Amino acid sequence: MGAFKKRVTARHDPVDPATLGDLAADGLHVFCWCHRCGHNAEVETAPLIARLGPMFPVPELGGRMRCTACEARDVATRPAWPRHGGGQIARYG
Ligand SMILES: [Zn+2]
Repeated sequence: MGAFKKRVTARHDPVDPATLGDLAADGLHVFCWCHRCGHNAEVETAPLIARLGPMFPVPELGGRMRCTACEARDVATRPAWPRHGGGQIARYG
């Protein structure tokens, strides 16, 4: 039935961070932003899984990325959650 699909990537749990496999299961991309210049972008999850595997923790991706705007390595990553009001997520009730 799948009425209660678990949204593992919808919570922020530092003990059990979302992995690339979690994002792929929810159809989400990885959101990255640069602490130095503020540049941000979404990266497709599938190519990352091909390189790093589905168990790779999303927060650790930042250490492997470099800003395409200023080339800084001070990049943070998190799941690219859908924006509220975007019409992409169902609501209960
Ligand atoms: Zn930058």
